[in-house]
Amino acid sequence: MTKLKRVLISGASITGPTLTYWLHRYGFDVTIVEKSSALRRGGYGVDVRGAAISVLEQMGILDQVRAADTQMTGVYFVDSHGKMKGRISEASIGNQHGADIEVMRDDLTNILYKLTKDTTRYIWGDSITAIRETEEGTLVQFAHGQPQVFDLVIGADGLHSNVRSLVFGDEAQFKRSLGCYISIFSTHNYLKLNHCQHLFTTPGKTVGMYSARDNAEAKGLFIFQSRPLHYDRHNPDAQKQLISDAFSGHHGWETERLLHAMQDAQDFYFDEICQIHMPSWSKGRVTLVGDAAYGPSPLSGQGTSLALVGAYVLAGELHAAQGDYNQAFTKYEQEMRSFVEKNQKIGLVAAESMIESSNFKILLRNGMLRIPFLMKYMFNMVTKMITKAANGITLKGY
Ligand SMILES: Cc1cc2nc3c(=O)[nH]c(=O)nc-3n(C[C@H](O)[C@H](O)[C@H](O)COP(=O)(O)OP(=O)(O)OC[C@H]3O[C@@H](n4cnc5c(N)ncnc54)[C@H](O)[C@@H]3O)c2cc1C
Repeated sequence: MTKLKRVLISGASITGPTLTYWLHRYGFDVTIVEKSSALRRGGYGVDVRGAAISVLEQMGILDQVRAADTQMTGVYFVDSHGKMKGRISEASIGNQHGADIEVMRDDLTNILYKLTKDTTRYIWGDSITAIRETEEGTLVQFAHGQPQVFDLVIGADGLHSNVRSLVFGDEAQFKRSLGCYISIFSTHNYLKLNHCQHLFTTPGKTVGMYSARDNAEAKGLFIFQSRPLHYDRHNPDAQKQLISDAFSGHHGWETERLLHAMQDAQDFYFDEICQIHMPSWSKGRVTLVGDAAYGPSPLSGQGTSLALVGAYVLAGELHAAQGDYNQAFTKYEQEMRSFVEKNQKIGLVAAESMIESSNFKILLRNGMLRIPFLMKYMFNMVTKMITKAANGITLKGY
């Protein structure tokens, strides 16, 4: 079996740079192609917990990532006048022992990029247009660059993966919609929130504000339930209009001001809340990793941990298989499959509980948050489920 050397990864967010770190450590020659012209900014805090902490530790960046922790203290539910109706402390949701990390998504991508930029060829502002297997390997064509041959191609290009569409077919076969849409964008911390998040919920809709970067800025949040919407994923203005329409007449709290702030945001992010379920993540010399293969949805809080662990396992199995990529891809799936399923389940449970469908449910939630023993019982259950899923894999040493 000839040694595999040349690997092309599509996507430079969390999964891509993590994978290139490990592949480089094992002697692979890696190129990453990213559609954006630079690292994409934006997003809320993302969680890293369980087995993923060990991946960061082995990469030597655990302290750096911990230093960037958002230090959030909790979530406050407010009514239409901004009056506090209930609170969930950070310690009560999944992070009782302080072991988990919450870090702004783009702080983490920056750390991963800096760690890998000198050992990886990053191509910005380009995208794969065709992938064809030949006798020598995989011939890849790009929208802008010259065609090149690689031994392997790996899609780390997120929920709407380009590699997945090119090699496995239409996204609709694999997407499981959770019935909601989400938007996140940066704004001023004009409410002077102090390391916390305020959420205003009405049936099927949530508006939020979250202090970020030591309260120096804030993130606005809109989540709404909807039937499937047909929109252009590359047209932020049309997406902003969808949100404005969804929240028109939704008076109260900071809705109007946040809708206004969203219009000027430079890092506006909008997507459907969905999961990716595939019967197999690999075909020939191509495989998928992270959200592209098994996105659990932002509501699960586990997308980043799955991405870090998936990249570690895939690189490790490629190293261990010494050139036999079929064997490596099979082992990668065997190691990851049940871990992925446990974590995707959290996304399904969260989707049912994070968007309240009626005023009665909102009242019930606020009432329950005022009964300490009930709260403790509920959060213990949730914490156990999250901790079990996040630790649901024993990492091999490769
Ligand atoms: C801007 C942004 C904001 C986010 N905000 C949150 C959040 O607030 N909370 C949360 O839980 N999760 C968020 N996510 C998702 C989160 O980053 C992932 O769930 C998780 O970290 C797994 O990361 P990933 O690298 O597999 O996928 P992603 O983080 O989605 O990254 C995919 C990367 O692939 C690139 N890409 C897409 N198409 C192509 C193409 N044709 N060619 C080359 N590159 C391509 C994208 O630009 C992106 O850089 C966000 C993702 C993005 C891109």
